[in-house]
Amino acid sequence: MTQTAEALASKLKSIIRDVPDFPKKGIIFKDITPLLADHAAFTELVKAFADHYRKAGVTKVLGIEARGFLLAAPLALELKAGLVPVRKKGKLPYKRVSATYALEYGTDTLEMHEDAVKPGEKVLVVDDVLATGGTAAAVCEMVDKLGAKVAGVAMLIELEFLKGRAKLGAHEVHSLIKY
Ligand code: AMP
Repeated sequence: MTQTAEALASKLKSIIRDVPDFPKKGIIFKDITPLLADHAAFTELVKAFADHYRKAGVTKVLGIEARGFLLAAPLALELKAGLVPVRKKGKLPYKRVSATYALEYGTDTLEMHEDAVKPGEKVLVVDDVLATGGTAAAVCEMVDKLGAKVAGVAMLIELEFLKGRAKLGAHEVHSLIKY
């Protein structure tokens, strides 16, 4: 990490709130709402992401429901790219592709519209937290199914001890904050 990246990371860390035992015992929930409420910090983080991808030729930014939407939208505008919501099963109205991934107990399914990205497009996948990597890997699988290319996986926070990166294979993962 460069000095500026480190300075930004420690600033963002100081604003993010740890909520122990949410949504269940043993989980430390990384609450980004204080960051979203801080105009200067929010602006800085969007700019840091945009600077990283400005030359990557990104044509679509995919935000993962729900906190991913909040980061993906300003980033898409900054990169002059389109915005695509990736949603939980049953929320999108038009024809969809889907990917199912394993949770601690059971499975979950994510969906996106089948015409949301075109073959050959360069797609940036965005979410707030990379934990085990199952969610982001499922999204990359959908991008592959549609014949588009994952230009990168952008995560505000990476929980390194959960080794989510390993699930994402050769995809480039960029996180601003690591724990
Ligand atoms: P995973 O599929 O395990 O990488 O989990 C990633 C998804 O779960 C993301 O959409 C995150 O928003 C959410 N998530 C996982 N762990 C946490 C955490 N400690 N705090 C906040 N959100 C989390």
